Amino acid sequence: KPEYQRKPDWLKIKLNTNEDYNGLKKLMRENNLNTVCEEAKCPNIHECWGSRRTATFMILGAICTRACRFCAVKTGLPTELDLAEPERVADSVVIMNLKHVVVTAVARDDLKDGGSEVFAETIRAIRRKNPFTTIEVLPSDMGGIEQNIRNIMDAKPDILNHNIETVRRLTPRVRARAQYDRSLELLSRAKEMQPTIPTKSSLMLGLGETKEEIIEVMDDLRANNVDIMTIGQYLQPTKKHLPVLKYYSPSEFGELREIAMSKGFSHCEAGPLVRSSYHADEQVNASAKQ
Ligand code: SF4
Ligand code: SF4
Repeated sequence: KPEYQRKPDWLKIKLNTNEDYNGLKKLMRENNLNTVCEEAKCPNIHECWGSRRTATFMILGAICTRACRFCAVKTGLPTELDLAEPERVADSVVIMNLKHVVVTAVARDDLKDGGSEVFAETIRAIRRKNPFTTIEVLPSDMGGIEQNIRNIMDAKPDILNHNIETVRRLTPRVRARAQYDRSLELLSRAKEMQPTIPTKSSLMLGLGETKEEIIEVMDDLRANNVDIMTIGQYLQPTKKHLPVLKYYSPSEFGELREIAMSKGFSHCEAGPLVRSSYHADEQVNASAKQ
């Protein structure tokens, strides 16, 4: 049985509340919108919603058809599709005055298009109402169906992000119904469809991976022309989720970042509090050294 590790000091962040932030939370409730920032109790919320003007919306409902063992999103059969959601997200981007928006979604394995059409419509609605906001999308693998990826790429996001999450060996244990190679394939197909749109993927650490396996992920991502990589610490959302087997120190993250950059990524964020969407505003227009 794995030992529980004590949380190191660099992860003890105090959440302070301020008026802006409370107002924005209210706006989300009134518009029936979900953000990962709130759902995942992200420690970066004040920096992102405040000075960086970035937020991550989770569309297609709050109930996921999958149950990944690191993720706190509820599992179940989703309710019907909310076709007005794209416009509400776009309106909130206006009100929040966002410079960069990340749009992610629960996995909708109940839908043939994997939710890709609502995704595409959300990109178009944000673009119409906020021509200066950069848009990053973070879809699930959408069953690996090519047309679903195409629907999203045709709407031309500024960054296509799809998370590999963990190393090859641990994928079946950590990610429900996802396949390591299918995720790589999605990233490489997206690049083929729109070569000028940067692709991005994130890895979380602390689930029992080795350094060699982390480096293998970097090599696999580069072999599939991924431009941007983020590496962060896995934190256990509840006792029912996978335990943290290791807390990496800031200097270990620094070393991993150096290794990633030597592999040819154009941008790599690595650190204990780095999340897939952290400092995403700095990554737009990044294309890797091929
Ligand atoms: Fe939201 Fe991502 Fe920022 Fe966290 S890092 S607050 S999830 S935008
Ligand atoms: Fe969470 Fe995404 Fe897995 Fe659903 S598919 S459980 S939202 S990580």
